[in-house]
Amino acid sequence: MKILVLNAGSSSVKYQLFNMDTNAVLASGMIEQIGENESNAKIKYFDHGVESVIERKSTIKDHKMALKLMSTLLIESGTISDLNDLDGIGHRVVQGGASFREPVIVTDYVADEIERLIPLAPLHNPGHLAGIQVSIEQSPNVPQVVVFDTAFHSTMPKHAYLYAIPYKFYEDLKIRRYGFHGTSHRFIVKEAAKYLQKDINTLNAITLHLGNGASVSAIRNGKCVDTSMGLTPLEGLIMGTRSGDIDPAVLFYLARKLGYSIDDLDKLVNKESGLKGICGNNDMRAINKLAEEGDAQAQLALDMFNYRIKKYIGSYSAVLGRVDCIIFTGGIGENDSNVRLNSCSDLKNLGIEIDATINNQRCRDILTISSSESKVKVLVIPTNEELEIAIQTKEVIENMK
Ligand code: AMP
Repeated sequence: MKILVLNAGSSSVKYQLFNMDTNAVLASGMIEQIGENESNAKIKYFDHGVESVIERKSTIKDHKMALKLMSTLLIESGTISDLNDLDGIGHRVVQGGASFREPVIVTDYVADEIERLIPLAPLHNPGHLAGIQVSIEQSPNVPQVVVFDTAFHSTMPKHAYLYAIPYKFYEDLKIRRYGFHGTSHRFIVKEAAKYLQKDINTLNAITLHLGNGASVSAIRNGKCVDTSMGLTPLEGLIMGTRSGDIDPAVLFYLARKLGYSIDDLDKLVNKESGLKGICGNNDMRAINKLAEEGDAQAQLALDMFNYRIKKYIGSYSAVLGRVDCIIFTGGIGENDSNVRLNSCSDLKNLGIEIDATINNQRCRDILTISSSESKVKVLVIPTNEELEIAIQTKEVIENMK
């Protein structure tokens, strides 16, 4: 069974082709700078076991041209002979609002809902929608499934997802916590259950997705009961360029004192804050290097980043009562042993203790980094959102039969 996973943004399309009999990636690639003069297209695949790459530069004016080029590259790579070879296409959609709790087959209703939700995800949903519409035109006979980033968080109770502002804003405008990175949180908790040989329906976990964007979720009995991102992916942990939690009054103060507009404030907290706002850099590897060289601002950024994670571990431990495991994933979570060690330091009272030696090991697979005395298992699990989308797409298609 061959499933293609598409992640269409406003100016790029990422894609991965999976053989779902083995979960192996047959080909992957991206088309970037759609709508600009020189667009880049790339595909990576295996030719008789050897990794091969095809790259093209041309003008790709829209998603229609982008998906046409993607299908040409897939055919040239020999991984499919025709788009109709595909058994399904899975589309990533960041914002499914309160409407979608599960992945669904694309219908006109689903497309309309994704469009209706654009105000809640103005940077993401328009690109997703364009990708879905073109993909349906191109492959009308291939089942197409939408997998929502927000769906995994749809099990949060109302007291966790509501903001304490007048209730009418929830009723009229659906302002509430939605959460993001759900596909990743879901994937790593499923992997943890398999690895720990526990029934997912009884597993309690704190999942930390730490990349350029970062979020943490509290999982009770395999289901999300709270998460740090909110109405948008701005709330919660400190991120590369996003502030995470902040007193909203800071924004009123800046508006009154410096005359900042709504757009200025939006840019400030989304693009100029977080690690970048503190030390001028948003790449964790560069920040580590600066801190090692004695840069005090870089060290401060690291201390703030780790401290915020620790606060969430503490509060979600209280939410869950019993924590079976803490899982680190994402570019930082999977690779940065200092972040893992420092965010979990001095948490013995909560039953959390890292083995510093094992924590320093590099491992491409799942690694337990907690000590043998630690009540809570601390795991590093590489995330694979594309595979999770492919798995969910396959499940939806099989349930249709
Ligand atoms: P992601 O958004 O998941 O791709 O993660 C991107 C972040 O992971 C960036 O801040 C990178 O600097 C960071 N990252 C990637 N590799 C490493 C590494 N080996 N050590 C520390 N941070 C890393």
